[in-house]
Amino acid sequence: MTASYVIPALTQPSIPVAGESKSFPVRRIWCVGRNYLEHIREMGNDERQPPFFFAKHADMVTGDGATIPYPSLTKDFQYEVELVVALKSGGAHIDPAKALDHVYGYGVGIDMTRRDLQIASRKKEQPWEIGKSFDFSAPCGALRPAAEIGHPAKGKIWLSVNGTEKQKGDLSEMIWNVPEIIGKLSLQVSLGAGDIIMTGTPAGVGPLQPGDKIECGIDGIGTLKAVIG
Ligand code: MN
Repeated sequence: MTASYVIPALTQPSIPVAGESKSFPVRRIWCVGRNYLEHIREMGNDERQPPFFFAKHADMVTGDGATIPYPSLTKDFQYEVELVVALKSGGAHIDPAKALDHVYGYGVGIDMTRRDLQIASRKKEQPWEIGKSFDFSAPCGALRPAAEIGHPAKGKIWLSVNGTEKQKGDLSEMIWNVPEIIGKLSLQVSLGAGDIIMTGTPAGVGPLQPGDKIECGIDGIGTLKAVIG
């Protein structure tokens, strides 16, 4: 039986896959907060506190080469380059030793952030949505299947603005690695096919202005470009 709806059926958000005509459908977007020590230090946060999770909505995903409108309400719009993990299956209470079996592939993403609003909500002990979860807040480059590239645990991750390198780190510096992230998140929610996880950003985050050109990448995975509108 075909489902019918009282308003037109919604479009399925998706991410292209490199070298494929088919794309990857997005179910949920999870993000890891504070997963690189140097970034915790630059933000003045307690480096003994463990990383944690927050979420964006699936339709906030944006493709490679997009123009990202400078968002409303903020005076401090910032970039955070991150490794994106895309799941082909899931479950609850996933054993980290078996977690990589659930990974379809990897990509390069940016956790776009309204930093002033994020910090204000943190100080007021309010939720982070206003700072993290907004239209166009999850640019993501084409995915590379793990069947092709394996499961990268090291490799340079970088971001430049107008040709000047701003962020530089290595995947090996993540506090929780990918199997640990999947294991921990699956204690909080049941993961599923189509879920993507943005795994945290290295140091060097900073503000953007309208017209800025961003380029970022991860060795062995790919690159992603965006322009601020
Ligand atoms: Mn982030």
